[in-house]
Amino acid sequence: VGLPSEARATAQRRAIVDALESFDSTFTAAELHERARRASTSLGLATTYRTLELLRASGAVRSIPSMGGAVYIRCHPGHHHHLVCLRCGSVEDTDLCAAPTARELKRRYGFVPEAHEVEIYGTCARCA
Ligand SMILES: [Zn+2]
Ligand SMILES: [Zn+2]
Ligand SMILES: [Zn+2]
Repeated sequence: VGLPSEARATAQRRAIVDALESFDSTFTAAELHERARRASTSLGLATTYRTLELLRASGAVRSIPSMGGAVYIRCHPGHHHHLVCLRCGSVEDTDLCAAPTARELKRRYGFVPEAHEVEIYGTCARCA
């Protein structure tokens, strides 16, 4: 509505980030798009996908490959893993990490690791 395109893009990104913050569990791009559109009605699906990709690159969002890759969760860049409830879809962070250490991998395989991703699936306390 007469806004310069840069301001409109910023407002749309804002709407997407606000919508993102309202999810406490897994969500799809379509669900994020639908929620963000309540604040920014002209928001296109392509913009949602593009923004989601930026958020993923920055660590604010992570996709869950074993759930088809099209399922996302809110995240943060620090090292941690996720406890994903298979019943209600809730996601909890955990800083418990049982991955082999870099030193052990180097010693046994001559392998120098850079990153690992672990998602732990099960039943959350509320659903148990
Ligand atoms: Zn996370
Ligand atoms: Zn649950
Ligand atoms: Zn770890």
